[in-house]
This record gives sequence, C-alpha cells and structure tokens, in this order.
Amino acid sequence: MKSFDVAVLGVGGMGSAACLRLAEAGQRVLGLERFSIPNTRGSSHGATRILRLGLHESARYVPLVLRAVELWDELGARTGHALFHRVGSLDVSIPDGPIFTGSLNACRRCDIAHEVLDAREVARRFPALRPHPGMQAVHQPGSGFVVPEAAITAQVNLALAAGAEIHGHEQVLGWDKRGGRFEIRTDRGTYEAGQIVVTTGAWLGKLLPMPVEAERCVLGWFAPARNAAHFAEDRLPVWIVDSPTTGHFYGFPIHGIPGFKLGRLRETPAPAVDPDERRLEPDHEDEADMRAFVRDIFPDADGPILSMETCFFENTPDRAPIIDRVPGEEGIWAVGGFSGHGFKYSSAVGEVTRDLVLGRATPFDLSPFRADRFAA
Ligand SMILES: Cc1cc2nc3c(=O)[nH]c(=O)nc-3n(C[C@H](O)[C@H](O)[C@H](O)COP(=O)(O)OP(=O)(O)OC[C@H]3O[C@@H](n4cnc5c(N)ncnc54)[C@H](O)[C@@H]3O)c2cc1C
Repeated sequence: MKSFDVAVLGVGGMGSAACLRLAEAGQRVLGLERFSIPNTRGSSHGATRILRLGLHESARYVPLVLRAVELWDELGARTGHALFHRVGSLDVSIPDGPIFTGSLNACRRCDIAHEVLDAREVARRFPALRPHPGMQAVHQPGSGFVVPEAAITAQVNLALAAGAEIHGHEQVLGWDKRGGRFEIRTDRGTYEAGQIVVTTGAWLGKLLPMPVEAERCVLGWFAPARNAAHFAEDRLPVWIVDSPTTGHFYGFPIHGIPGFKLGRLRETPAPAVDPDERRLEPDHEDEADMRAFVRDIFPDADGPILSMETCFFENTPDRAPIIDRVPGEEGIWAVGGFSGHGFKYSSAVGEVTRDLVLGRATPFDLSPFRADRFAA
C-alpha cells in the first residue's frame, strides 16, 4: 500500500491550493478527486469569481483576501497567466442596505482604498449600470475577479511539479485509523496517510459530521443588445447590486465565456439538495428571474441568453467556513463550507491548511471558523 504524509480529499478550489502548499513544504501529498480536475460538478466552475477586498459579509475575511491577492499575483507570474484581474468592484444598494454599509465598514476598518458614488455618478462612469435614483455604491479600485478553472489548473500543475501525487476520477469512500495512521479506501484502492484534509466542498457532510448543505445556484450569460463595449473589462468592474424591486445579484464584465455573466444571491438559501442527485438543469424560470434584474439595472444587456450553468453553494448554518481539526479526531482536518464566497481567498486557505497540518502558527484569526461552534 502506498504511503503519504497527508491525503487531501477533493481537489477543487481548496484542495488544489492545499496540495500545492503542502507539497512545496516538502510533504508527501496524495490528492484524490472524484471527478475531473477541474470539473463542473462542484462549486469552482464558470470562468470567474468575484474578489472584493472590503467584503460586505464581514471585515474578518479581509486579511485572508489580502494575502490571497499576493498569492494569486505570484501564481500568475510563475505560470505566465494572470489569475487575478484587477478591474475594481462596485457594491450597490440603498444607503442603509447591508451591501453598501457592510462594504463601507469593511473598507474603513481595514483601510481599503474606496470611494462612495451616487447613482448618477455610477451610471456616468460605468454606463452599463443604471442604479435606481437614491442608491449608493462603494467603488473599490483594487478589487476584481479570479479565474477559478485556471487557478485550480495552475495549483495542481505546480503541486505535481513539487512532487504531489494527484488522482482524478477516484472517489474516497472512507477511512480507518490504524496505529495512529489512516487507511483511506477509494473506489480504486487503498492508501495510507499520516493526516487527512477533507476539502470535498458541497460533499463535506458526506465524509464528516459537519453541517454543510448544497444549494443549487444558477449563472447566466446574456448577449448585450446594445453598447457591448460597456460590458468589457476596461469599462465594467465586478458588481453586487441589491435592487429594491428585483433583488440581490452579482456579476462580471465579459470574460472567458461569451456574454455578460450574472447570478442571484439569496438572503435565505434555497432548500438544500443532495449533491449526489442530478442537478436540475437551468430552465426558462431561471432565465426569467435573471432577465427581470437585467431589465431593471443593466437594460443594455437584455439580449438573447447565451449560456446557463448550475453550481453548488456549500452552506453552513452561519454561512462562514469551517477551517479546523475535526473535534476529537487527531490528524483529520475539515476545510469547507465556504457558503458561496470562498474562492477569492482559497489560495490563502492553502497556506493556512499547510500551517495547521504542520502544527505551525498561522497569522490569521481562525476562531470564527472553528468546527465546534455548531456543537450546541
Ligand atoms: C454560482 C457560484 C458563484 C460563486 N461566486 C463566488 C464569487 O464570486 N467569489 C467567491 O469568492 N466565491 C464564489 N463562490 C464560492 C466559491 O466558488 C466556493 O466557496 C469554492 O469554490 C469552494 O471550493 P471547495 O474546494 O470547497 O469546493 P469544490 O471546488 O467544489 O471542490 C470540492 C471537490 O471535492 C470533490 N469530491 C467530493 N466528494 C469527493 C469524494 N468522496 N472523493 C473525492 N473527491 C470528492 C468534488 O468533486 C469537488 O471537485 C461561488 C460559488 C458558486 C456555486
């Protein structure tokens, strides 16, 4: 039986980063992925992921995001392909809405460069976007988007170069502890490892007793009907808009896949689904939901739909991730439940995972991400 220092279960956003950082630290790493690398079955596909420095969710993520940006830039330089595109970001809502106030607070608390724009100024500078009169925006010029499939590819190629062994199309079924080490069972064989890192995303709850639930989310790409140049990277930042009439959406300038991309963010998640069940294909109802928002806020984008795709949010009850040792389980680490906002800082999570596995101090406050917070 082949033996490793650490096995990383699931090679998506978090697993690829963990494999890279552990392999570069000299660990003998085994990465096991059930589908292809990268794949469209989990949470890390669709060409782009928003990276805001001052996140409206909470200022506690800002240090991780700042480190992640350094790592994305470094990885881009190492591979010759930019992974982080600094196009800026806009958080737009009514002035006392959580999108505007949360983003403003995070920027102020963490000293992130930003400016406040009213609806008229937003439309003047970024003419694709027509906020309702009275809405306000936080513009962060240092934010932008990450390209997830390319990021996973870069991290896996570098991990392989650093000596990691990585298998696709191999499903982890479980493990047994024998004499302080783990015997990992898959649908192809058995391996031994000193420690296990579980990064199975929407499937985290299938391998560990963790409250992570999969939520079906839909992404759409629309052909602009007019002024297509306004949707290019040099004219449109990434954006989050909470419209009082059509709801809370996020999106991107055109990149990677033809068309203007957007998706809905729900305050209360849609009912949880079993990630092993076939995901419901996007349909006319999904398109109509997105189109109502497009007509409301991005009227020039109201052309034919070009593509739609589904994806899983991997929600915990408080929508914060779990980055911790599994309670009572020496040598097993849970890194998941990023609840629809984790890709931006996944490169930094790779370093954090390395530090936890090697017993090193981490510079980040991980207390909000403890596994035992759900015990009660
Ligand atoms: C529609 C959508 C939009 C999003 N937008 C943003 C955004 O703008 N900004 C942002 O920062 N984040 C965003 N996110 C969230 C972010 O993409 C996720 O938090 C992140 O990708 C999760 O990475 P992960 O490694 O935990 O999961 P994944 O990348 O899904 O990786 C888990 C892997 O584990 C594998 N696996 C599962 N079970 C097993 C098993 N038994 N054996 C072996 N392998 C297994 C899966 O096949 C999968 O490849 C979005 C997510 C979605 C779905």
